[in-house]
Parts: sequence; C-alpha cells; structure tokens
Amino acid sequence: MASTGRPAITLRSLNRHIAEFDMSGVEMAYANSLRRSMLADVATVAIDQVSYNQNSSPLPDEFIAHRLGLIPLISKGVRFSMRDTRDCTCDEGCSYCMILLTLNVKCTGDRPLNVTTAHLTRVEAPPGDQDDMEGQELLKKRDPAVGFPAGRGEENQILIAKLSKGQQLDITCKAYRGISKHHAKWSPLSAIAYEYDPHNKLRHSSYWFEVDEKAEWPPMKSAVHEAEPGPDEKFDFNAKPHTYYMEAEGTGAIPVNDVVVHGFEALEDKLGPMILQLHQQIDIEEGRAPKEDEMTDENAYQPAANDNTYSAPTAWNGSGQSPNGIQPSAASPWAAVAAPNFGGMNGGAASPWGSGPAEPAVSPNGDGW
Ligand SMILES: [Zn+2]
Repeated sequence: MASTGRPAITLRSLNRHIAEFDMSGVEMAYANSLRRSMLADVATVAIDQVSYNQNSSPLPDEFIAHRLGLIPLISKGVRFSMRDTRDCTCDEGCSYCMILLTLNVKCTGDRPLNVTTAHLTRVEAPPGDQDDMEGQELLKKRDPAVGFPAGRGEENQILIAKLSKGQQLDITCKAYRGISKHHAKWSPLSAIAYEYDPHNKLRHSSYWFEVDEKAEWPPMKSAVHEAEPGPDEKFDFNAKPHTYYMEAEGTGAIPVNDVVVHGFEALEDKLGPMILQLHQQIDIEEGRAPKEDEMTDENAYQPAANDNTYSAPTAWNGSGQSPNGIQPSAASPWAAVAAPNFGGMNGGAASPWGSGPAEPAVSPNGDGW
C-alpha cells in the first residue's frame, strides 16, 4: 500500500490483552515515538514500598518485595484519578496518591501453601486532607477496581511464595502511581513491537540462508497485508517505509486500547507546549504578542482565536478537549498526534478503542478490571 501522505491508523484486531494496528503515512521515527510513549509514559500503579511484620518464608524480604513490585495492579484511569505521591501534600501517602495492600497468610496444613495475588487484600489508605478539593475530585473519578491485582477472580493467579507448615508472611504494601521511564514495573505493556516492509523490498535486511532463502525464513506476520514483489520488479532506490504493523500486549493493568490512546496523549503533552512556544516566538517576532519581559498576568500570551493550528474542535476521545487544552485542527500537521484516525473511527464513544479518559468506569469483564 502506497503512502497517502496523511497519517492514518487501521485497527486489525483487538482483545482484552492484545491490540494489532497499522500506522501509515508517517516517518518511522513517529511510529517509534508512539511505541516508546506507550511503553514508558503511560501511568499505572505498582507496589513501591513493602514493610514486613513477619516473614518466616524461605525467601528473603528483598526477593519478595521485588516480586510484589512486578505484579500488575488494575490502573484504569489513574492518569486522571490519582496523584503522584511526590506532588501530594501528605507526608507518607494518602488516599489521593496511594493504594494500600496487605498480605497476611500462614500455612497451618501439612502441605505447602501457595501464596498468590489472590491473598493480596486492598485496604483503605489513610484519608487525604479533607480541604483538598482537587484530591476529593480525584477520588470521585477513580474506578472502584483500581489497586486490585490484575486478573482478579481468574483461576491462574500469580505465585508470590510457597510456605511450609508454620511459616507466615505478614506484609503491608504501598502502591504509587508511576511511569515505566522510572521503573519497568510501571509498564502497562509486556511487549510492544512493530514490523515493516514484510517482503524486504527496501532491502533493510540481509537474510543468511543455506540453500533457499524463502524456504528457510518464515514470512513475517504482516506479509499478508502487502503484495509480494514480482519476479522482474526492479529495486526502487527512492522507496521508503510507509506502513508499520504494530502489536501491543498489555500486562492487564490497563486495557490495551487505553494504552494506545494514552500513548498518543503523552506524545501530545510533550509536543503541545513546544508548538505553543513556537507560535509565541513567531507572534512576538511579528509584533502580535508582548515580549516575555513585558508580559504580565493581564496580557499573558494567548494563541490567536482563529489560529488554524488550534481552533478547530478535535475528535479527541469524543470530548473535544485534550488534557493540555490544545485543540489541533485536522489541517494541522500535528493532527495525528491529538486526533488519530482509527481507520475511520475517530476515537469517539463507538470506537473499539474504548472510552475517553474521563469515563473509566466501564469494565470489559465485570469485576476483572
Ligand atoms: Zn498523598
């Protein structure tokens, strides 16, 4: 498929854990930015501090703490319903910035006891400052399932430790919001990758083989989406990659469709202020805005109301308002960052990518999320 020059996304398949989609009409750096953004900039909650009242298991405290940190906790909507603990006014964690879990298990039988995520109990965190209205709003937005181990109620729970008769684990865990740029335990994805040019027309790969290259190398998964080159087809020196076949697998902390949308939002959060700053510089140069040393609260910089880059309403999650207030138009070269075209489904309520950030309540599997 030749590039149309217009960024587009086509959703190929989506289930609870895996999303497969194509990006076309963009540079490879753009596709890779989305991949990295989804992997490293989407917030989840994970256990960050563990205190031990009792550990008579054969495993050392640090070993168990490490295992606990890597357990995916349900984090749907925490981007909008929880505060980073370093930004909170509390001293040691409160309901606005922390999820509290306990694990208290003792083996009393003759057979070894498997301690799993089913034994983790979410308890009430200390209440935050009642006068903190912003914090109260966060609690109102929070999905009731946030903080429970992912896969709750399912048969196969994650094993934490095994206890013999008389051994006990009595632990309190503090889980905070974070991103995987700071620690991999906060990653919402267990895997994310893309492939391009499945028939190697661009000759970016050089396959080693003994007798027959085609027989010895299985075709790429995306090979069915592009036509094979004909036997007499000449190598095109000017050809560039145009379609990137992405596959993202979630940990269960956040529905994978939300990870894709939040990945775009994180990119927009980074690029939006830069676009504004660029416009401000141009407007100052051309005398439409006061210089920075002449700027006051009253004449603070505002982009022009009819500015083509920001004025049109966006299809962004159906809400028409992006998290940083910027509203890119379809004509903007940045439009795909803020209002991705999901193969004709513009991220609205009917999109298979799910609801917007302000509507975290719908659960795809009842109480599982
Ligand atoms: Zn707090």
